[in-house]
Amino acid sequence: MTPRDLQPLMPSMVAHARSTYPAECCGLVLADAAGTARFVPIPNIAGTPAAAGNSERTGRDGYVMEPQALLGALEEVERSGGRLAVIVHSHPDVGAYFSKEDRDIALGGGGEPLWPGVQYLVISSRPAGIDAARLFTWDAREQDFAEEEVPVLP
Ligand SMILES: [Zn+2]
Repeated sequence: MTPRDLQPLMPSMVAHARSTYPAECCGLVLADAAGTARFVPIPNIAGTPAAAGNSERTGRDGYVMEPQALLGALEEVERSGGRLAVIVHSHPDVGAYFSKEDRDIALGGGGEPLWPGVQYLVISSRPAGIDAARLFTWDAREQDFAEEEVPVLP
């Protein structure tokens, strides 16, 4: 997906990131068989007993997608012939960068992405609202994530 493809979804993603501030939000962009994208918010359970053992972080500085909602969304998109396109989360007060933890999660501790072809969108949330979003795409030649700005205002 390009930043332009994501543009129509920004209002719903921005609203979701604002609604969970000062905690991180998370969600998925799913593409249907025709390539049309939609945003599915997933509850962030970081810091709850259900997430213990999965992440030491709280919802303030990390995210763990609620497993039932995550599996449900992935099963549905698979059944309908679509695909997972983008994994979305927000960064409260620290900016829209790809953190070391984000990278570790994306690479699963190895040198190649856990989810080939899946991109990552990081949304910067601040007390006054959402001020930036960046899309991170694995570049196999560079062996690194390339970043692109996604405008948050239409
Ligand atoms: Zn992050």
